[in-house]
Amino acid sequence: MATTSSDAIVSYADADRSLAGRVAVVTGGSRGIGAGIVERLAARGAAVAFTFNREEAPARALEAMITARGQGALAAACDVTESAAVTSFLTMVTSTLGPVDILVNNAGITRDTHVLLLDDARWDEVMAVNLRAAFTCVRGVVRGMLLRKWGRIINISSPSAHLPLGGQTAYAASKAGLEGFTRALSRDLASRGVLVNAVSPGLIETEMLHAIPAEALAQHIASVPMGRAGRPEEVASVVAFLASDAASYVTGQVIGVNGGLL
Ligand code: NAD
Repeated sequence: MATTSSDAIVSYADADRSLAGRVAVVTGGSRGIGAGIVERLAARGAAVAFTFNREEAPARALEAMITARGQGALAAACDVTESAAVTSFLTMVTSTLGPVDILVNNAGITRDTHVLLLDDARWDEVMAVNLRAAFTCVRGVVRGMLLRKWGRIINISSPSAHLPLGGQTAYAASKAGLEGFTRALSRDLASRGVLVNAVSPGLIETEMLHAIPAEALAQHIASVPMGRAGRPEEVASVVAFLASDAASYVTGQVIGVNGGLL
């Protein structure tokens, strides 16, 4: 039987155990890009803990799929905007799987609307999930990473940080803030082996795209040089590289995974 490109991705992932022995945390890991990242980090040998917000069934299915392969996995309900919930979750991860080596701040929301219709509540909600939660999660794991002199922090940004669509004042500000946070944090941690980068996915086939009207979405896809939307696993491959020892001289960067968007 002919090997397809997606078969090739899976067999490569199965052979590559570059994250064996590592413990990873992924926020918003029950679906979309986050689920793709959970699967890929686990396929490379990491024990993976991930949060879900409301979707318990897919989170439990993913957890069961990983544990069935004999690897550590932990799915837990956690609203990342609640600092106390994040602290409890991270305590549970450490006691169940071990100290956290890899943190992927993936949870994110859009509440796009014209600025005239944007109220404080929506602005605050976007900032709390997309920006403040990244800081809260970092604060929970960074001391241990510094003591062990090894760590990887990967923040999931967006091209909207630099090239926003209309109605994205809050989302664009949160993602631009996340990229500034990434660069500043990388400077604080670089000398101690803790590397911090952002991955900026272009249009990726997830539920987040359902918020974009069909006609506008078709236009966006047509503007991608590769002529298609990306898949969660294509983002996950880059995250897995940044999480590995192979990325030992990469920090403070924003890496685009976007089919050629500039
Ligand atoms: P998605 O809506 O499918 O997934 C978002 C995840 O975040 C979900 O698992 C959700 O439960 C979680 N989440 C939201 N609020 C939360 C909260 N308060 N506490 C805990 N978890 C919460 O979207 P996605 O496309 O998979 O997005 C993942 C990341 O990628 C986001 O940061 C998003 O901004 C970014 N991104 C996506 C695209 C795209 O085209 N899909 C493009 C650029 C960037």
